[in-house]
Amino acid sequence: MDIDGVLNSHRTAIGFQHVLMRKFDPVAVMMLYRIVKNADAAIVISSTWRLSKGWKTLVWGCLREAGWPWEEYGFVPQDSCPIIGKTVNYLGAGKIRGNEIDVWLNEHPEYNDYIILDDDSDMLESQMNRFIHCDSKVGLSYENWQRIREIWPEEGELA
Ligand SMILES: [Mg+2]
Repeated sequence: MDIDGVLNSHRTAIGFQHVLMRKFDPVAVMMLYRIVKNADAAIVISSTWRLSKGWKTLVWGCLREAGWPWEEYGFVPQDSCPIIGKTVNYLGAGKIRGNEIDVWLNEHPEYNDYIILDDDSDMLESQMNRFIHCDSKVGLSYENWQRIREIWPEEGELA
């Protein structure tokens, strides 16, 4: 999962006047929560946020601040964090995000399905049927949500 252009957006930057883009869109976060819970999925960060010191604590803090309901797991944030890792950071010619994601997937065969959320589009041809292309102006959208449900349907959904 990417972050900038997915959990924040031009829209949130205007609304929250937050230059660091650390204020996530609460609706996008709750949609992500529902996706993760429904699919029993985990989150791997492919965003450049993963290159910062303390990246995981930072991302997890922003998710909780935007409303991720971590309390239901028992008030132990580090235990309930859905973020299980990050992709490698390639430099130079190999620096295509799809390549970095592919490396992670190959190293973790126990995860046999995935979706990619990103507002960039440098993914591999083989990943296109699992790639959810977000619009950086709005972040994770209703259209993105519909596409995710086609891949990972929910039981008993209303619409
Ligand atoms: Mg981005």
